[in-house]
Amino acid sequence: MSQDAFLHTSLTYLKGVGPDRALLLEKELGLSTFGDLLHYFPFRYVDKSTYTSVREAFASSSPVQMKGRISKISEIGEGRKKRLTAVFTDDSASIDLVWFKGIKWVKPLILEETEFLLYGKVTKFGPKYNIAHPEIEKFEIAKTKSGSLQPIYNSGEKLTSKGLHSKGIEKIMRTLISLIASKIPQTLSEEIITKYHLISKEQALQQIHFPENSEQIKSARLRLVFEELFFMQLSLIKQKLITQRKSKGYLFEAVGLHFNTFYNNHLPFELTNAQKRVVKEIRRDTATGNQMNRLLQGDVGSGKTLVAVLCMLVALDNGFQACLLAPTEILANQHFQSVTEFLGPMGVEIGLLTGSTKKAQRTVLHEALENGSMQILIGTHAILEDKVVFKNLGLAIIDEQHRFGVAQRGKLWKKNIYPPHILVMTATPIPRTLAMTFYGDLDISVIDELPPGRKEIQTIHYFDSKRLLLFQFLEDEIKKGRQIYIVYPLIEESETLDYKDLMDGYESISRRFPRPQYQISIVHGKMKPADKDYEMQLFASGKTQILVATTVIEVGVNVPNASVMVIESAEKFGLSTLHQLRGRVGRGAEQSYCILMTGYKLSEDAKLRMETMTRTSDGFEIAEVDLRMRGPGDIMGTQQSGILDLKIADLARDNQLLNLARICASEILDTDPDLTHKKNYSIRQELLSQMKRKTVWSRIS
Ligand code: ADP
Ligand code: MG
Repeated sequence: MSQDAFLHTSLTYLKGVGPDRALLLEKELGLSTFGDLLHYFPFRYVDKSTYTSVREAFASSSPVQMKGRISKISEIGEGRKKRLTAVFTDDSASIDLVWFKGIKWVKPLILEETEFLLYGKVTKFGPKYNIAHPEIEKFEIAKTKSGSLQPIYNSGEKLTSKGLHSKGIEKIMRTLISLIASKIPQTLSEEIITKYHLISKEQALQQIHFPENSEQIKSARLRLVFEELFFMQLSLIKQKLITQRKSKGYLFEAVGLHFNTFYNNHLPFELTNAQKRVVKEIRRDTATGNQMNRLLQGDVGSGKTLVAVLCMLVALDNGFQACLLAPTEILANQHFQSVTEFLGPMGVEIGLLTGSTKKAQRTVLHEALENGSMQILIGTHAILEDKVVFKNLGLAIIDEQHRFGVAQRGKLWKKNIYPPHILVMTATPIPRTLAMTFYGDLDISVIDELPPGRKEIQTIHYFDSKRLLLFQFLEDEIKKGRQIYIVYPLIEESETLDYKDLMDGYESISRRFPRPQYQISIVHGKMKPADKDYEMQLFASGKTQILVATTVIEVGVNVPNASVMVIESAEKFGLSTLHQLRGRVGRGAEQSYCILMTGYKLSEDAKLRMETMTRTSDGFEIAEVDLRMRGPGDIMGTQQSGILDLKIADLARDNQLLNLARICASEILDTDPDLTHKKNYSIRQELLSQMKRKTVWSRIS
């Protein structure tokens, strides 16, 4: 049998499986071939030689392994309330065990007065301790030789009913592993294996399932994680090369009058080094003749708008138009204002197109765009409509990308004969590992430096009991002429409740800060857009001192005189939102403050979030903590989670390996873009076979 054929053999042919179990493995776990099963990895290992005493277990917050005997087995309740209970005892103490589900399968396994190994997490229930759904297994002396590790596999109720609980899976895995000698094809090249000191694939599979010690798990994991990340990066980079080859783009050959005039005569300040570097990167991209697809990440306040302006000027210098898309009308307005401030004096023609642009104005705009007299268009989704036709669009910049879908970006591509260059700007720092995965087919630029002279925002965590102190502080700041944001959570499931919180808050603030001495704006999701805009404008122009709002102000709004951000029920917000909200202040010359208000009772997660916010203001550092706490799926949204279908790599943990894998993949594609060199034969075969098997790591930009 050839090596490939072995991996593709149906599991029905594995001893101990048969048609019924094969069907179940396919349905429940998506495993249908030998290869699939070999890549179904244990999620942990049990060391049979060490246990915790029951008494010690009472105090442990993580699951523990114990050795003892079971007694007093009984079934209580009827129907859905039925439970199986027992008592587990060792030399130190006793603890209750309870099962709510799968009683039929568990009951025959537990026997009184037999020694068992038990694994589970202790919870306290009133004065008593118990363990729900522990894993149990008869104690066998033979398995307890020091260091022996038993693999534990994820299973499920249906699988368990056919004997395919973790131990059952272990058994068929043992059978399969005994067959693999010389049957596992090479997937990496000799060159890579030597360079990164990897063990062979065959050995790695053996060790990951049946390690003799923890060193073996380590070296197996290294090999398998590297391989998984390597092929992911390889196909992403390959995808990028193909897109670039296909998409001819416009050539921005030179900088000219617009750019130079602005740079030399109108630039209000020196660019930061990071801004300079990013402008250079974009210049290089747009001078190749291929279409640029670039993601620009930069923390709030890092000066992305200015970079956008400079790039638009390069487009203009080469005879093209440019557009800038914002996710909301407020932001489009703000961009229009700041770009007009920058470029108006030079006589550049700039237009604004949003949902509320009047029909008569639209007609004028459409014509100016079509005949080319309008050079820069700023707006919302309205720009994407088919009616909006440019004479010669060369560059499209999208601010805050996550609100624009793929289909919408596709519309931009069709606005000219060749697709315009695309620059996506985001202020939501994404950990590098995630960026490399989700945007692996885009180029990435990072502004990792704030303009000079910014005062660090002071972040303080107050419990609700400090409210009087807070109000006094706000009064003092208002006396100094500052403005204040007070933000309430908005969680969609409990909208009415949140609305009530907001209104209660608004009332008590109004009582403490009464008119006419104080003026307060309020903005929330139930208001009409025009009313929201009106209230925002009052605040932005300084006519109101306090803005009470839900998170609608999260993205992009710029009021430099606002120097205090109070976040109510801060424990209800995720880290990235807290960081975004904090970014609304610290935009002017004054010392700014962010005050996190919470109740006394905080979960461990919430404590860590408050601690992180008060410790650092580095968006990337915060994003890393967020990734560790929430995992990649939650951060990027579930609709993209297909890409996270990783079998063994962990993006939060395998940071460094991902870097290595990316470098390694790009080095190989640099010298051998089509993988036709003989030494890369195995890599090519594996890539082709992965592509056939659906795992194509591409994300359309
Ligand atoms: P963001 O990246 O959040 O979009 P902005 O582009 O709004 O940031 O810039 C934030 C503020 O910093 C603006 O007031 C802008 O004029 C100012 N700014 C941008 N670049 C510099 C610089 N190099 N030096 C000083 N101030 C700058
Ligand atoms: Mg911005």
